[in-house]
Amino acid sequence: MCDMVPFLDLKKVNEQHRNNIDLAIAEILESGQYLLGKALEKFEQEFAEYCGTSYAVGVANGLDALDLIVKAYEFSKDDEIIVPANTYIASVLAISKNDCRPVLVEPDINTYLLDPDLIEEKITRKTRAIMAVHLYGRVAEMTKIWDLAKKYKLKVIEDSAQAHGAMYNDKKVGNLGDASGFSFYPSKNLGCLGDGGAITTNNESLADKIRALRNYGSHIKYHNAYKGINSRLDEIQAAILSVKLPHLDSENEKRMAIADYYLANITNKKVVLPSTPLQKKSHVWHVFVIRTKERENLQKYLAENNVQTSIHYPIPPHKQEAYKEWNHLSLPITEKIHQEVLSLPMSPVLSLKEAEKIVHVINKW
Ligand SMILES: *Cc1c(COP(=O)(O)O)cnc(C)c1O
Repeated sequence: MCDMVPFLDLKKVNEQHRNNIDLAIAEILESGQYLLGKALEKFEQEFAEYCGTSYAVGVANGLDALDLIVKAYEFSKDDEIIVPANTYIASVLAISKNDCRPVLVEPDINTYLLDPDLIEEKITRKTRAIMAVHLYGRVAEMTKIWDLAKKYKLKVIEDSAQAHGAMYNDKKVGNLGDASGFSFYPSKNLGCLGDGGAITTNNESLADKIRALRNYGSHIKYHNAYKGINSRLDEIQAAILSVKLPHLDSENEKRMAIADYYLANITNKKVVLPSTPLQKKSHVWHVFVIRTKERENLQKYLAENNVQTSIHYPIPPHKQEAYKEWNHLSLPITEKIHQEVLSLPMSPVLSLKEAEKIVHVINKW
């Protein structure tokens, strides 16, 4: 019982696909084409098909995916984009680096997602888009977001970096807005062996424009239509993602089984468990986040009992040094979340025995 339960054993996650990853890498090595080749085209088609969208465009990482969406819309300086106040910094950076203003909205304390009832009061004549973040793997409350977007003619941008494969009714994340940004950072539900990202959309001209923007703004070599960036998903990462994509649903199912086990068996009254998702598949459990007023104490106790945990996230964007201009803001729900959350081990390779140990230890706390 004294083996450490790691927060996430990435080596074990990828070891499952070892043979096919080795073959895929060897094939790229031999092809002689390492960027913007057949493997990328293949993965883009497969990923678009998986998400149910017409187009997918591979890029270098998740931040660039969101950045390129905002860039492609060519919003004006100081245009506003609604974004949840508790999100990973990348969602906010993608807005501010394009000279637009992130307008922070408090989350719902039960879902940790953008509270749709607090959005309308933040909409002004400068609002251009709502960025819905499917935080922790749970799909955002889209119906109200769609209604507001229609009423005020706003774009809906999804930050899907934590929710590959999650469903809202019969549609997948990536196909719930005008455009969606994904990350394939190694620890994500679909991760490569380095950095990677993608944009999905049903808008052909937007997809074409982003295809150019990711490659120096060029559709035709040495002809630059836009001031683009260099953000390409390389052939090796694309080939690895093609190996892993067919297993995403079954790996998400394993996460759901662990989440069900935690939800049914953690009984410690000092711990607030995640609320039950609307539908089974509307949460793909990128992380399993509990809440307690004695977070530091619980984290230390779990470490002493060989259970590794993590915090998503310790400091909200508006309290970061990078956003000094917001440090005075008071967003009490967001701040409470950041003070109390703790993420338990969660991955498709976590064993039932490990989950049992974790539950046992928490219930004794
Ligand atoms: C990981 C993540 C990103 C950024 O992805 P990178 O590939 O690390 O750039 C964006 N948004 C959210 C919510 C994320 O979790």
